[in-house]
Amino acid sequence: MASTVKRLLRCDTTCEKCGTDYFYIGEAEIKDSDPTKYFEKLEKLTVEGTDVVPCPSCHKINKAMWKRWIGDGFSMLIAAAISAGGLVLVMNLFDEGVVLMWGLGLACLGWFAMTLIGLLAWPFVPLMNRGAGIIPGREDEAKDDAKIKYMAWNSVWGEGAS
Ligand SMILES: [Zn+2]
Repeated sequence: MASTVKRLLRCDTTCEKCGTDYFYIGEAEIKDSDPTKYFEKLEKLTVEGTDVVPCPSCHKINKAMWKRWIGDGFSMLIAAAISAGGLVLVMNLFDEGVVLMWGLGLACLGWFAMTLIGLLAWPFVPLMNRGAGIIPGREDEAKDDAKIKYMAWNSVWGEGAS
């Protein structure tokens, strides 16, 4: 049976513009219970990264991150289209078993609202994540939420783990 595992992940990267090495703590979501595949996917995410986080020195975004960001936008657009389509379909079929239709309608509406919020926030993600990048050895200079995430990651997966 497949299950989803969520965990914090440290993603290291180097800025393509100014060469600064930095990392951020991202969230990995892996849908696989097979241990071998789980670690393969975890490894892949560690290398490829999970988020769009600009360089803490010059705020430049690497090419791979741009690609991920554009891809995320497309996936959200598709999800919004599917949920909106589902909503229209449910509204057209409303007479057939009203209770069931209310349930389906609300589910589609909820999904649509969530994707819409994601889509509206999407253009600002690189800006919102400006403080998320941390330069190794200069963890103290990171913004508070980045520091909190880093401490959380460190206590479970990092050197601070007991
Ligand atoms: Zn840079």
